[in-house]
Parts: sequence; C-alpha cells; structure tokens
Amino acid sequence: MIDIIGGGILGLTMAYELLKSGQQVRVWERSKTLGGLMGRITLDELGGVSCDRYYHAILNSDRTLMGLMEELGLRKRVQMVSTKMGFYHDGQSYPMSTPLEFLRFPPLSMLDRMRLAYTILACRQIKDWRKLEQLPVAEWLNGLSGEQATRHIWTPLLRAKFDGDFSQVPATYIWSRLVRTTDTRSKDGSQELMCYLPNGYQELIDALAAAVRARGGTITTGATVEQIRIAGEQVVGLQVDGQEVASNHVVLTTQTPIARRLLPPEAAQVNAQWGQLDGYLGIVCMLLVLRHSLTPYYTLNITDERIPFTGVIETTNLIDPCHVGGFHLVYLPKYVAPSSPYASMDDEELQRTFLNYLRQMFPNLHDGAIAAMRIGRERYVEPLHPVGATDLIPTMRSAIYGLYLANTSQIYPQLTNGESVCSFARQVAVELRYATSAKTMLHSNLLMNL
Ligand SMILES: Cc1cc2nc3c(=O)[nH]c(=O)nc-3n(C[C@H](O)[C@H](O)[C@H](O)COP(=O)(O)OP(=O)(O)OC[C@H]3O[C@@H](n4cnc5c(N)ncnc54)[C@H](O)[C@@H]3O)c2cc1C
Repeated sequence: MIDIIGGGILGLTMAYELLKSGQQVRVWERSKTLGGLMGRITLDELGGVSCDRYYHAILNSDRTLMGLMEELGLRKRVQMVSTKMGFYHDGQSYPMSTPLEFLRFPPLSMLDRMRLAYTILACRQIKDWRKLEQLPVAEWLNGLSGEQATRHIWTPLLRAKFDGDFSQVPATYIWSRLVRTTDTRSKDGSQELMCYLPNGYQELIDALAAAVRARGGTITTGATVEQIRIAGEQVVGLQVDGQEVASNHVVLTTQTPIARRLLPPEAAQVNAQWGQLDGYLGIVCMLLVLRHSLTPYYTLNITDERIPFTGVIETTNLIDPCHVGGFHLVYLPKYVAPSSPYASMDDEELQRTFLNYLRQMFPNLHDGAIAAMRIGRERYVEPLHPVGATDLIPTMRSAIYGLYLANTSQIYPQLTNGESVCSFARQVAVELRYATSAKTMLHSNLLMNL
C-alpha cells in the first residue's frame, strides 16, 4: 500500500498510474475538494456559476496530457481554439501573435526585432540545457537579443515573473518557455493554437478520481495529514486529523516547505536536505467576472513597469463564455516574494489597487461591467531553481525507507505545467514500483538464502 499526500493533479495522476501497475494506493487530501491549484470556485452571487480559480490552458503539443485524457475518455471533449497574444507597452496594447505583428512591434528597431527572432530560433535548437543552467538569464539574453530587446522586452517580463529579482534565475527558464511553445502554432504557422476542457482541468481531476476509485484506490478528502511516523529509520505510519494510520510507504506531493513541516524529529537529516532548495514564489491573483470582453487577447503581457500585475489574462478568449454563464473572465496575477507588500495587502485594498491600474489601461471599464470579483492567494506556486543549483534538487527517495518526495520543485528544467506534472507523475510511479518492491525483494532473497 502506498499513501499519497495531496489530491492535486500530481497526486491523482500518480495514484492512477500506480493502480494501473497493480499497486494499492490511498490518497489523502486536506481540502474538501480535489484538484489543488487546478480546482474550481463557485460564484454564489451569480447563481452558482463555476469557473477555474486560476487560469489554466492546455497546449496541443501536451502529448502526455492528451494521452492521459484519451485513456480517460476525455479527448473528445478537448476544444482547440486559435488565440491571440499581445504586449502592453508604454500605455498601449500591441498584437504579437503573428510573425508579421512581431516584426512591426514599435519599441524595437528592425535590427533588434531580428535579434529577438534569432533568440527564439536559436533557443529552439539547443538540446543540451546543462550549460544554460550555469548562466544567469539576463546575461544570456543580453548576448543573444542585444541590449534594447533585453531592456524593453525581457527585463520587464522577468521582473514581473520573479517579483523584481531575477539575478539568480538561470537561462534554462526562458529556454524551457520557448521550447514548450515550439509546437503550438498551426501547420502554416499563422495561428497560435490552445486547448481547453469545457469545465476546466476539474474534468480531468474528476475523471482521474473516478478511475482511481474504480480500480480500488481510496481517496479521502477533508483529511489533513499532520505528521509522518518514523521508527528505526523507516516509515511506520501517518497521523491524519489526530488518528494513527499504519503505513510503510508515504509519498509527499505537497510543496517542499509544507512537506518538511510533516516530518518528525527523527527525520531531521532528511528535513535539512530538503531545506537546501525550498524557495518558492507565491501569487496574488484577482479574478474579474465581466459582462463584456475586455481585450481580444488570451494573454496581454505587460512590459510597462508602472503596472503591478504580470499580465491581463482573459481566459474567455479561449474558453467559450457559454461554459461560464455567458460571462467574461479576466485574471490579473502578480507573483510575490514573501516580503512583497502585495502579499500582505488585504483583499479590499488589493482589489482597489488592481482596479485602479486596470482602469488606467482600459478607461472604458465601468463598474456596471463588473459582475463579480475574487482574490486568490497562494504562498507556494513557482519553485525557484537558482543558477547552478540542480544538484540540490531533492531526490524522490530519502534516507528514510518508505519516505518519498515527489513535487513540482523536482521538475526541472521543464517549467511547472499540466504536461510536465503529468509526465513527472508517470515517471515517479515507475520509480516507486521499484523502490517499494526493493526491500520486499531483498527480504525474500534473504529468506531464500537461509
Ligand atoms: C495562477 C496560476 C496559473 C497557472 N497556469 C497554468 C497553466 O496555464 N497551465 C498549466 O498546466 N499549469 C498552470 N499552473 C500550474 C498548476 O496549477 C500546477 O503546476 C499544478 O496544479 C500543481 O499540482 P500539484 O498536484 O503538484 O500541487 P497542488 O495543486 O498544490 O496540490 C497539492 C495538494 O496537497 C494538498 N495538501 C497540502 N498539505 C496537505 C496535508 N497536510 N494533508 C493532505 N493534503 C495536503 C493541498 O490541499 C493540495 O490539494 C498555474 C498555477 C497558478 C497558481
């Protein structure tokens, strides 16, 4: 029996994969609902309309994810749509979806635009990322794209994504982003294609949960794991809401700082090891539910540093509004370090501040157009991998027999997204099959030798 802590997409995909290979699993989820960061919220004031808590897209190049949806009978429900991307620069929005629009982008000279295009092409040719991992991203981009493109495009984007400080971000970050979007264009290259499920990732989460239960796995929601029990250098159980549960194999899928809090003093050495790389950025994200569309873009990237949020993401330019009560959904995310004043701002002030900035960008946005607003906050979202720190990424197995860590901080150099999380969950399931049978095999070999 393998106990999985966390009923997000990682924990559920892993549970499903383990069951497929004949293992028994139990999933423990603290929240009353499954899905973690990919879950939904219900807007009671709008008659119970439900929508994604945060924006989540699927790319048509997400092969593992598409394969998983095929297995679960969801593939036919995936909708593919041509979407647009824009840049907000110096008080104006510019379309940047097609090569032609890209070549017309005014803040850059023709030479700078060519260098930017070269950066994208050159990046996609790089297969061995190891050298990039040693290079700070700004230094690398400056060399490839030149000073102007770095100043006007990369620096503001990186500043927004890393809450101001990207000095320790390795070049692998931009490389991964560009590689991921290689196959997202239509065959003639003229359109950017994205995909979605009508009820969001929650459809996949529900299908995974149903498949886990159908194969005999158990999922307990509203169950907080409080501590892992260890005796004689091996896992012996879990404390769940004050109750003791016997267990020999426990996989923590929660973010590393949360996982560390569940370790008992007997696991001090493992705790210290996991603590070598446990930095995360959090997020504050305002959701505006509007009666009309705000932009033509799925993503409007912001390179205007006066605006605090990273972008304006209008997911209903991908998802048909009919799936969310005919409303239009606009998300305003801001990545935050723990020390950011935005992390500690109360909801009211945050709404007021973000709305003020949004109205500077879109003066026609009137109060009457806003049907509902929500603030979402997460302390641990983006795992930080500083320059040259790959060796510090914790391994799945730990020094304690039966104790495993499998979370998004171990996904590298790929970025964290549904595709990378699902393929990681699959790999971990294979590794776990060996890890959990190793001692059993050792024992049976010893018995045979006696
Ligand atoms: C604003 C935003 C936008 C994003 N956009 C995209 C996108 O466009 N495309 C994409 O693919 N990905 C996107 N992502 C990333 C994606 O949401 C995550 O990669 C993914 O959801 C991580 O899943 P997980 O299972 O690893 O973690 P989580 O979803 O965090 O799941 C961990 C689970 O563990 C549970 N837990 C914690 N402590 C305990 C405990 N003590 N006992 C029991 N349970 C516990 C939590 O409640 C949670 O449900 C986005 C994320 C955010 C925040």
